Amino acid sequence: MSESATTGVTGMSVAAAFAGMRSVAPVVFRAGCPDCRGRFELGASALRLAIGASSRTTFYSFTCPDCGAAVRKPAGERIVELLTGGGVRTLRLHSTV
Ligand SMILES: [Zn+2]
Repeated sequence: MSESATTGVTGMSVAAAFAGMRSVAPVVFRAGCPDCRGRFELGASALRLAIGASSRTTFYSFTCPDCGAAVRKPAGERIVELLTGGGVRTLRLHSTV
């Protein structure tokens, strides 16, 4: 009896852990540096997303951990979704109503 109860609790805690992971676990984004051609993985806190009025002014930026270059890359809709969903700090360049 106590055994089945333990199993039930374990199942629940696993589900809870997964639910928590979705929002808390650090998301890693793969990025490349055009300067030193380095490839690396960055956490959400290392990236900045700027959303402009159009896709042309929407970009994400980060500092290359290898050479220190400030990298800025255009961000399409999918990337914006990915970054915002991953907890990247977002800056809106245009005023919204
Ligand atoms: Zn670099």
